[in-house]
Amino acid sequence: MKMTTRRVNISRRVYPCPLCGELAARHSTGRRRLREIGVDGPTVVDVTYSKHYCAKCRRHFSLPMDHLAPAGGRFTNRVRWTAVDLVVKSALTLEKAALRMRQKYFVNVPPTTLHDWVVEAMTA
Ligand SMILES: [Zn+2]
Repeated sequence: MKMTTRRVNISRRVYPCPLCGELAARHSTGRRRLREIGVDGPTVVDVTYSKHYCAKCRRHFSLPMDHLAPAGGRFTNRVRWTAVDLVVKSALTLEKAALRMRQKYFVNVPPTTLHDWVVEAMTA
């Protein structure tokens, strides 16, 4: 099966510090690999992002990417929303939704992870 990797570079030269708003320069970059919805095979988004240092707060921070994926997560938001919809809107069981995610979108979401997502979505 075809494995697709999509490279995305969201790195910024400067970015406002989330604490004080001061423009903070990039000092390095990082990379994150996220599982994404696949069309004709497993798909991974390889994200390059910038890391910044705020001289005022003396604090390091990474470029926010909540629009792509939650911090520390292995899956894109699109995977999350699609899987949650299968449970909440299409009323599939967790196991059936996980199976659908594997068969239709080539993403392996453990039912326990999906359970956590559904709980979060219902309590948000
Ligand atoms: Zn700051």
